Amino acid sequence: MQSVRHDGGLCPRCGKHLDAHAAADARTPASRVPKPGDIAVCMYCGTPLMFDVHRRLAVMTEQDVDQLTASEVLALDAALDIYRRIAS
Ligand SMILES: [Zn+2]
Repeated sequence: MQSVRHDGGLCPRCGKHLDAHAAADARTPASRVPKPGDIAVCMYCGTPLMFDVHRRLAVMTEQDVDQLTASEVLALDAALDIYRRIAS
């Protein structure tokens, strides 16, 4: 994963400003731009998030989690592991 500067707005849970994300696919500039349905984890509060159709971050719902692919579940778990290491 590669860290990419991107104004993601405010975390809908803790209200902290999120100005960067880790791109699982950073091969091209276009692939580094979040698209609707992309997942994220707030590194301030550990909340799983998802970009909505307006590329704003929303708290991930149980229905969102149920619809994740196996690779997305692994990516989410990896991001939550990073958060836990940062928070501890
Ligand atoms: Zn947060």
